[in-house]
Amino acid sequence: MTAKADGKAAGGSKTANKKTGKPKSGAARKPSKGLPRCKYSQAEIRQIFSRFQKLRPEPRGELYHTNPYTLLVAVTLSAQATDAGVNKATKPLFDVVDAPEKMVALGEEKLRDYIKTIGLYRNKAKNVIKLSEKLISDFNGKVPDDRDLLTTLPGVGRKTANVVVSMAFGQPTIAVDTHIFRIGNRIGLAPGKTPDEVEAILERVIPKEFLYHAHHWLILHGRYTCKARKPECEHCIIADLCKSKEKTCDVAAPIVPIKEQPLPGL
Ligand code: SF4
Repeated sequence: MTAKADGKAAGGSKTANKKTGKPKSGAARKPSKGLPRCKYSQAEIRQIFSRFQKLRPEPRGELYHTNPYTLLVAVTLSAQATDAGVNKATKPLFDVVDAPEKMVALGEEKLRDYIKTIGLYRNKAKNVIKLSEKLISDFNGKVPDDRDLLTTLPGVGRKTANVVVSMAFGQPTIAVDTHIFRIGNRIGLAPGKTPDEVEAILERVIPKEFLYHAHHWLILHGRYTCKARKPECEHCIIADLCKSKEKTCDVAAPIVPIKEQPLPGL
């Protein structure tokens, strides 16, 4: 997987220091007109993501997959389901089916048997078969590396497309899931009313060198520390910087790098 950082999303030209070309270290870059403002300065945002980087130098998604196609299927199945639950079902499935042609040959009924422990499995099975048929008919059996093309596939929305182009093709995107949406609003990093707003703010304020991994850092922070019901602020490495009214601790936890990350459910 190659990490291509195009830098456009991170902005820069308008806020860069003319002499050094570096982003100004004062207030965070201004969001587009009409978007709510990030509560953190650029220096604070750099500090937050530097710490996430030290904690998880090589973050990765937690959905089991073997290639872009199985990733696409796994992300499609993960809507309103846990990664652990999806992994348990897809491991045996992907051992025998790793291409759209094989999925179509398997058929909807047998696919349902593999994924029946996942919520909304009937509808998801239908979509997986349809998207596999479309991949064969329109894309030569290959998963396109373009977000707009991906969203033409049945059951594939912007979030799924963002995850796929990021993880399978190394394009820096922010796929706003429930964790990222919550953190963006809870701590004021990206206080948007919709996932699209949160995505737009994050893409503007996160420095480009952090943008590629930012999606996973934020998800993992939300999943394991800044949890929905009760954030574990005493274990949080950004507790001193956090501007959330919900935080219960002002002292940052020490950073102990996490190298290996076993996939949940496997
Ligand atoms: S201090 Fe608490 S609320 Fe703030 S980011 Fe950390 S876990 Fe979340």
